[in-house]
Amino acid sequence: MAITKRIKKKESQISRLKHYRSKRNLVQSPEPRGGKQKPSKKDPIFVIQKHDASHLHYDFRLEIGGVLVSWAVPKGPSLTPAIKRLAILTEDHPLEYATFEGVIPQGSYGGGTVMVWDIGTFDNIKTNNNGKPRSLNTCFKEGRIEVFLHGKKLRGGFALIKTSRGWLLIKMSDEYASSRKNPVNTQKKSVLTGRTMRQIAAAGE
Ligand code: MN
Repeated sequence: MAITKRIKKKESQISRLKHYRSKRNLVQSPEPRGGKQKPSKKDPIFVIQKHDASHLHYDFRLEIGGVLVSWAVPKGPSLTPAIKRLAILTEDHPLEYATFEGVIPQGSYGGGTVMVWDIGTFDNIKTNNNGKPRSLNTCFKEGRIEVFLHGKKLRGGFALIKTSRGWLLIKMSDEYASSRKNPVNTQKKSVLTGRTMRQIAAAGE
């Protein structure tokens, strides 16, 4: 890549983190400042963080264009294709955020406990008419993302669809779909440290 193009790419990555940084006091909060980690060379990463803030929710983040594009999913992901989970688009997060687990001080933006509930890589499975992958950025702009997650808890296809009422997170129909399994309720520990929310909270006090 030409050096000017590389600098431009870096600049856009930094400018996309302005909103993230402006919302936080990163002296008080242990959250990463970000902006140093390079985009993944091979497969992009995803993370789902359980966040016990004013309302408990799950933050679903996908690496797109060098940042983690993020949605807050109040009920967390479902494995049942018929269940559509509301996903509220929030500010882009730095790539470093994917492994952040800890306690954001009360009174700060997003104050509460954060757990890395699931992490892994994903494949973009949305294709153009010619069968070639459609760029993730284009899919995001068009409001129709289809990814195959390779997580520790979640596997298989998930779609994020933008509707007139906002974004929805939906399990795609495949062999990993299930109407019985509900990992949000049955797999409650951190995939990073094996800790419960209570243990993370206690360690952060
Ligand atoms: Mn959150």
